[in-house]
Amino acid sequence: MWAMGDAPLAGRRIAIDAGHGGIDSGAEYHAHVEKDINLVLAKCIGDKLAAVGAEVVYTRTDDVDYYTRGKGGKRADLKRRIAIIEEARPDVFVSVHCNASKVKTYQGAQVFYHPKNEESKRLAEMMQKRLADFPKGNHRQAQSNTHVLLLSSLSMSGVLLEAGYLSNGEEARLLCDTAYQNRLAEAVLATFLEYFGEKSE
Ligand SMILES: [Zn+2]
Repeated sequence: MWAMGDAPLAGRRIAIDAGHGGIDSGAEYHAHVEKDINLVLAKCIGDKLAAVGAEVVYTRTDDVDYYTRGKGGKRADLKRRIAIIEEARPDVFVSVHCNASKVKTYQGAQVFYHPKNEESKRLAEMMQKRLADFPKGNHRQAQSNTHVLLLSSLSMSGVLLEAGYLSNGEEARLLCDTAYQNRLAEAVLATFLEYFGEKSE
């Protein structure tokens, strides 16, 4: 461990959003529920960041949602998450999700960013490079996306991580595997160490 003040991410604040929650399960395939996997991954990433001195802010640490009744409930949920993150004034954010497709063979972790922010793009490409083994032979590239409210609304740089495809049986099994989750979280940690290391030079 590091002595006080020596921790590499001391003084850095990172917001982590575990996608979905509560009444919103996200993608669901067999026994694999996206909201639960997102939360486990988010906490795993957060623990590793905190261990190297980062201050971690979560949009949720339990199985909750911020939906309002009636039309626009989902939008209200996202707006609440955006408000939590903005109020915390983090240096950077990451939103954690799992993907799904009708094409059962699709696989691979992928990072999305909003093109309005050059630093988000840099972070996304840095993270994607570290995800080439998730799973092995993952050729996906970091991708610009202007349709995600969280990405377009937040004022600081950040990315949305689709950790993998729950619709792919083999990858769904991996995403629920503690060792795989741990390795994935380490790749995210390494990304932030690199990101902030370069920045402070
Ligand atoms: Zn999702």
